[in-house]
Amino acid sequence: MLDYLVIAAHPDDAELGMGGTIALLLSQGCTVGILDLTDGEPTPQGSPEIRRLETEASTAVLGITWRGNLGLPNRSLQADLASRAKLAGLIRELRPRVLFAPYWEDSHPDHVAASALVDAARFWSKLTKTDLPGTAHTPERILYYFSVHLRIHPKPSFIIDISDHVGTKLRALGCYASQFIAGRPTTPPTFLDSLRDRARYWGWAVGAAYGEPFASREELGLRSLRDLL
Ligand SMILES: [Zn+2]
Repeated sequence: MLDYLVIAAHPDDAELGMGGTIALLLSQGCTVGILDLTDGEPTPQGSPEIRRLETEASTAVLGITWRGNLGLPNRSLQADLASRAKLAGLIRELRPRVLFAPYWEDSHPDHVAASALVDAARFWSKLTKTDLPGTAHTPERILYYFSVHLRIHPKPSFIIDISDHVGTKLRALGCYASQFIAGRPTTPPTFLDSLRDRARYWGWAVGAAYGEPFASREELGLRSLRDLL
């Protein structure tokens, strides 16, 4: 049973898009899991073993409750029926209250497929009279994090203040040396500098030091105005 399940096409996408928010939720006593849909390989500097070790290191930095890998094919991820059944079955077992998915518009086909797959699997997870494992479960919401290759600026539905957790986010990202350090420019701004600067930009947008943006297709309600920045 998880409060939040972050679903990502590749190991490191969850940390890129919402590593600070994951750390914030954990600090507030929530249970948070990450499900990577593929192993993210091949990449120019990585290997399955390197990626596994990097993912373990980042998982330890974040201190998350649960992390798994669905074993779907990297680079050819599809929102097909077999993948939908596999993901819906796991959602029924983990029973998260809220799902996080990649933002739906991107140049990486795996990210677009992952986003569509989460939408479809969320619907299937509530089915009765099915041979899916577990019992019917409906996550209340899907929120979309920004981990996009496309250089676009979608309007977020809200921005989470991660000022107290940006250090954890950057330490977690630093674990993925094969993706963010090896073969990248070493003169500032480095790739990690650029990730920090993007968090600074989203924080600036709401008058905080650092932030992470999220989108919701449905309207969001507030119980009070106390947490508005
Ligand atoms: Zn990715």
